[in-house]
Amino acid sequence: MSEAPAEARVIPPLRRAVLIGAARYRRHSYGSNHPLGIPRVSLTLDLIHAYGALTAQEFRVSRPATSAELEWFHTREYIAALRQCEAEGRVAHRYRQRHNIGNFENPYFPGFFTTPATAAHGSILGAEMLLQGVIAFSPAGGMHHAHADAARGFCYINDPVLAVLRLRREGLRVLYVDIDAHHGDGVEGAFVGDRGVTTLSLHMDTAYAYPFTGGAIEDTGPLGNAVNLPLPQGVHDDEYRYAFERLWPAVLEGSRAEAVVLQAGTDILAPDPLGKFRISTQAFLEVVARVLADTPTHADGTPRLLVLGGGGYHPLVLARCWAGVWGLLSGRNLPETIPAAGEALLRAVDWDLDEDEDHFEALFTRRIDPLRPGAVRPELRERVGQLFATHPLLRNGRLR
Ligand SMILES: [Zn+2]
Repeated sequence: MSEAPAEARVIPPLRRAVLIGAARYRRHSYGSNHPLGIPRVSLTLDLIHAYGALTAQEFRVSRPATSAELEWFHTREYIAALRQCEAEGRVAHRYRQRHNIGNFENPYFPGFFTTPATAAHGSILGAEMLLQGVIAFSPAGGMHHAHADAARGFCYINDPVLAVLRLRREGLRVLYVDIDAHHGDGVEGAFVGDRGVTTLSLHMDTAYAYPFTGGAIEDTGPLGNAVNLPLPQGVHDDEYRYAFERLWPAVLEGSRAEAVVLQAGTDILAPDPLGKFRISTQAFLEVVARVLADTPTHADGTPRLLVLGGGGYHPLVLARCWAGVWGLLSGRNLPETIPAAGEALLRAVDWDLDEDEDHFEALFTRRIDPLRPGAVRPELRERVGQLFATHPLLRNGRLR
């Protein structure tokens, strides 16, 4: 008697949730010599399928966002330039200068407009699903650095801003939480004048990390709706927990948010080649679980939550983590052992940057890794203390 292969069995969901993707994420993007030139959304989806953790009803395909949608935030000139460069197959000098595209940071590649425009619609669609009473996960989104008129930090189109704006159109007060290793500068900047949006970002101190400016404790915005905790290098699970457990409930309450958008970049995870933190997958998922548990809900108890992707430059670590995120959002308890089909597809990824490290072999067989505990450094306690003592939202529980 033969047993059905693991991928043929589908674990039913326990919560109303959708995962948003598109076939074009399978195409090569950014070029081979770029940190984002790795499989991300496609690998995540394949791993989720290997777990049998996605039904057809739970999957949504996004289309490219229209110019009108993109211009909710971006300038007409910038969108027209991206479109024209893609059509011409090259970036003219004047656009390179003006919009920071066609360089090493934000390179030209076939689809360099259509692919991020598709991710942008994915996040807008996610906001619409949230409005319809369903939790949404848009792993191609989370491109939090893009400016209205320019690409920044590998980000061409700021889909988190567009998703938040979609929720704002329905009058919802929004808390944007950014756990990516880098400061969520583009999103913070877009909403410093909007009392209906609060942004919370925990990130590598810009004294040593991109974007090398902003994101300091005292950067609260004129209304006091921006909350920033810059962190030292080497932050481990217990330190991250220490900070998040204090900040999250206080900011959620002070924001009086009715919906939450979580940017879930995985570059805080220990093996990430660009991140400088030492967070475990387990601790990352604890943060997601906490956000899921505390987010304000619809009448039927479904959280008004949209989760976006973000940074993450280690394909194996990223795919394991985001598969775990989907497990949480859809209410599935995924086994820690990666199914054989999943292991096979992870082993097929062209990646060997950390193959001599102790953690490497377990990346293929288990979806979580050992916790990385440690003492909370006094420096970190002081930063959290300073933030609570000085930030208007945390000191007074309201905006300026
Ligand atoms: Zn990042």
